[in-house]
Amino acid sequence: MRPARLKQEAVILAPQERAGVLLPLPLAGAYDYKLPRGVNAPRGTVVAAPLGNRETLGVVWGAAEGTVGDNRLKVAEPLEGMPALPAGLCDFIDWVADYTINPPGAILAMALRSRGAFEPESLRTAYVKGDAVPAKMSEARKRVLAVSEDGLARSVAGLAEDANVSTAVVRGLIAAGALVTTQLPEFSAFKPPDPDFAAPNLNDDQAQAAAHLRDAVAAGNFSASLLDGVTGSGKTEVYFEAIAETLRRGRQVLIMLPEIALTVQFLERFAARFGVRPAEWHSDLTQKERRRTYRAVMKGEARVVVGARSSLFLPFPELGLIIVDEEHEQAFKQQDGAIYHARDMAVVRARIEKCPLILASATPSLETFINAGSGRYAHLKLAARHGVAEMPKVEIVDLRRQQGAEDNAKWLSAPLRKAMAQTLAAGEQAMLFLNRRGYAPLTLCEACGHKLTCPNCSSWLVEHRYRKRLACHQCGYEIALPTACPECKAEGTLIACGPGVERVAEEFAHFFPGARYAIASSDTMASLHTGPSEMQATIRAMAKREIDVLIGTQIIAKGHHFPQLTLVGVIDADLGGSDGDLRARERTFQLLHQVSGRAGRAEKPGLVLLQTRNPTDAVIAALASGDRDSFYAQEAEFRSRAGAPPYGRLAAIIVSGYDGEQVRQIARALAKAAPAAKDVKVWGPTPAFYALLRGQTRERLLVQAAKGVDMQAYMRAWLSLVKIPNQVRATVDVDPISFY
Ligand code: ADP
Ligand code: ZN
Repeated sequence: MRPARLKQEAVILAPQERAGVLLPLPLAGAYDYKLPRGVNAPRGTVVAAPLGNRETLGVVWGAAEGTVGDNRLKVAEPLEGMPALPAGLCDFIDWVADYTINPPGAILAMALRSRGAFEPESLRTAYVKGDAVPAKMSEARKRVLAVSEDGLARSVAGLAEDANVSTAVVRGLIAAGALVTTQLPEFSAFKPPDPDFAAPNLNDDQAQAAAHLRDAVAAGNFSASLLDGVTGSGKTEVYFEAIAETLRRGRQVLIMLPEIALTVQFLERFAARFGVRPAEWHSDLTQKERRRTYRAVMKGEARVVVGARSSLFLPFPELGLIIVDEEHEQAFKQQDGAIYHARDMAVVRARIEKCPLILASATPSLETFINAGSGRYAHLKLAARHGVAEMPKVEIVDLRRQQGAEDNAKWLSAPLRKAMAQTLAAGEQAMLFLNRRGYAPLTLCEACGHKLTCPNCSSWLVEHRYRKRLACHQCGYEIALPTACPECKAEGTLIACGPGVERVAEEFAHFFPGARYAIASSDTMASLHTGPSEMQATIRAMAKREIDVLIGTQIIAKGHHFPQLTLVGVIDADLGGSDGDLRARERTFQLLHQVSGRAGRAEKPGLVLLQTRNPTDAVIAALASGDRDSFYAQEAEFRSRAGAPPYGRLAAIIVSGYDGEQVRQIARALAKAAPAAKDVKVWGPTPAFYALLRGQTRERLLVQAAKGVDMQAYMRAWLSLVKIPNQVRATVDVDPISFY
């Protein structure tokens, strides 16, 4: 469908204006276009712009550059009946583009995700009471007319349902002129949330934090607050008070969550507090739902949006509050396309919109923690779980002492099995956590030592025993489980090494044949074309106590509230702790803390068992002692000494392409061309962690700079020195958080 055009009055003879129009494409900058005669199109005006022999959406971005003669310019036409993109969003797009070293059009593309939102709104037919009185009157007809008395427009089916009659009765009334047609917008309106629908009684800590946040909203200025409290302390309840205050003041609210799976439960929770569900924004929406939400946000009709990281680019005209929940989550970092960290960019958008920002977490990112410590962010603490629930007891199981046990247990130590038996005997529930999908992370040949790896990636193939397949978790490559070694052709020599959740479940079933359990991992739930609904079903089964034990990956670590869950067993607490990544320890701490937080959320106390071979490791020790802040202080000290973020700056260039030799050559050329600058060090190139990914060779360069260095200027200057051929990509990752 073509966008509607602004009707032109032929008589207006104002001089033709020109404008710089930004297209949602990775082009260097805005393009000059003519505007129709007499049209006033300020920055943000959405236009239909010819490009080559097609037409694209574009946005008036600023004045024309003016170097091209008038007669060669094409005309960009403003779309009829569409609000302009808010000035705050336009400024935000420029800022993000500049910071992440991307063309502004590439960022604009993220803000125009719903093309359909700019098409003319279609209407649907509905009926209201007419003037004619039907000659024949029946009880059924009377009921329909009584229903239509309220003046609301309804569809034929809607009228029939509300009056409890057949649609034939309604059609009869239409034919008789007693009901007349009217046009309704394509979408029904979002109902406004009611700030006073069901306000809770806050405890003292909560009330104090809520008061601070209400003041921040009232101030109508930028501010940032860290809402820091253990899981179950009521962070959500507290930021709901800030939302209520923002609604009372007539402004919009954006709540960002790291995962769609969390959104589903959140909607219900929100509705219980505010009477209606908020609008949603994430990749699981249909085109139609996107169009509805986008428009409603743009027109200010959607007052509260809950969404994933891309919701940050929605066209809120009156944004009054941004909340980033679970702010430490890595999922806020977008890794493909334009690389950005939604939590960091949320700070920027809040600053531009002059509104408060709330970062909520039980285990804040070190960056946020340091900002709160230095006073840049307010630090609001909720010390204890709400009500009677206590934090669980965390105990270490030293696996080195468990060896040589007479039974054949491989993954479930004797102390863990004992605790499990007690929990089940008491009629309570348990969770076993291992952050590894599938049956075994590695399959190798006993005869020749050959490891089965992906042909497209530098990663092992993971066995999925239920499906009898080996799969690459990077690119999705799969083969049937071979019976012979592909290398030495020996039969029956392939052995599974190490556990994934399926293998833990197998051992669990062996020791506890009567227990009801389910496996929850992102591949058994999300990606087998079952969608999040199977996840929901398993979660519900756990909540309804149809199962006793949930065995899963990090998908079970978050958000869920099972009152009868009293035992959490962490199968391998050392996993992911030592891969040399700057944030590996912080991440392990956050993840394990979060898993631990599932235990004992109601009256019954919880117990967490951490199986480890490094019981004295700082991460494990901090988890066992519950002394988070000392661990953070120690991490901050390491980073400070290394000049690592947030005490210094990092940026990476990932060079990738199908021709390995060419990729290495460009990477070397980049390293050689790196300008010498004070307080800047360039490392590499080195093969990336996934040196081969989906068939592409990947090399990394890392820039480390002191805090005062203008990293963007440095990177731009550097990149301008090397010509990158079309077959090779050089992607910039400012503030990289992992080195994959
Ligand atoms: P967090 O977000 O910190 O994990 P929640 O806000 O989810 O904590 O609170 C945990 C549980 O305690 C929820 O079921 C919540 O409804 C309940 N809760 C928290 N504070 C209160 C309160 N003041 N009154 C009633 N229930 C509360
Ligand atoms: Zn692969």
